[in-house]
Amino acid sequence: MRVRIHRGTKEVGGNCIELSSGGKTLLLDMGMPLTAPDPANVKLPQIEGLQVEDRNFLGIVVSHPHFDHYGLIQKARSSTRVFIGSDAEKILRAAIPFGSFGVVFQNVTHYQHRVCFEVGPFKITPFLNDHSAFDAYSFLVEADGQSLFYSADLRGHGRKARLFDQFLKTAPKPVDVLLMEGTTIGRENGKEVAKSEAELEREIFESLKVTPGLALAYFSAQNIDRFVTFFKASKRAGRTFVADLYLAHILDALGRKSLPSPRGNDLRVFLPSAMKRRIVREKSFDLVAPYYPKRIYPEEIARCASDLMMIFRPSMAADLENALRGAKLFYSLWPGYLERDGFDLQAWCVTRKVAFEIHHTSGHAGISDLKRLVKALEPKRLVPIHSFAPQRFRSFFPNVQPANDGEWWEV
Ligand SMILES: [Zn+2]
Repeated sequence: MRVRIHRGTKEVGGNCIELSSGGKTLLLDMGMPLTAPDPANVKLPQIEGLQVEDRNFLGIVVSHPHFDHYGLIQKARSSTRVFIGSDAEKILRAAIPFGSFGVVFQNVTHYQHRVCFEVGPFKITPFLNDHSAFDAYSFLVEADGQSLFYSADLRGHGRKARLFDQFLKTAPKPVDVLLMEGTTIGRENGKEVAKSEAELEREIFESLKVTPGLALAYFSAQNIDRFVTFFKASKRAGRTFVADLYLAHILDALGRKSLPSPRGNDLRVFLPSAMKRRIVREKSFDLVAPYYPKRIYPEEIARCASDLMMIFRPSMAADLENALRGAKLFYSLWPGYLERDGFDLQAWCVTRKVAFEIHHTSGHAGISDLKRLVKALEPKRLVPIHSFAPQRFRSFFPNVQPANDGEWWEV
């Protein structure tokens, strides 16, 4: 089996790994580079079969529904075969009416946790992961008597931490090659242990107890684990959680009994005016109809502010002007985005006298969990991917042999 990483050996995002065996080609992820200033101008990698049908091109296995892992697929021919988890596909479909991250793939095959499947000469076993994206997987790929394990993005401190522990106990070993993510290696300056979602929940609960007004939770609506963290903290503090239409629509699409439902008594649903304008423009009233009995309007939010915690994003700021007395904003995204966002969130908080706090934990494993992963898989060769600091892998792990973007090598 031969491997060519088109992108990702020296950066976080844009993962694209080409595997070749017996003249057949399979891709693991084809994401948008996060560093691309203009996604519209990012070109497809030079791979036969992406634009014109080629019987030797077998398709793309997508690890999880984050843009840096699937974002470039939209530029490939629409009949491209895509392998993806069924909940991951539901999330991407549900996002379509709400902006550029939604997508429908035409030729989809679903895979499942620990159920191995064959595509041409490749035998693939997916392993469900703990990550900030819902329905995220790692893969063991076997071909030509060789094995390659692709971690994709994972962590061991989230709501699915048990999955990570289970995996470590039963991991396939030794593997010939481990392609392992190292997002936090560049970011955290050697900080080893990340805060768990459970600790985050406690921290948010404690802070809610001393919040006199509206609690605003700024997190990604697609980060279902983080939603559950906020929802639980909010419930414990005796507050009702308010989802916006986007989050409600995603929860509805997933339809999981284990998750709060926007149609039941757990949640209220807010339609921000920016979304409302879009719905009127596109006459997509069906999107809101299921939640009419659960709708909450700005007047009620202002009146009951101290009883509520609600999802927030800057596009809602104008809707909430009259509900901000004693409010607090719980920022729960990677803090690096604060500097990149066009909207100056902290300045907005200062002028509105809204308290600002960061309550976040990474979607990616810290070094100690990555060490446990390496120990469990016993790779003969470890290739860094999804990291801005591949040169630092050697300080933490054995058998590191970095690769370069665009170069072929044998497993
Ligand atoms: Zn990623």
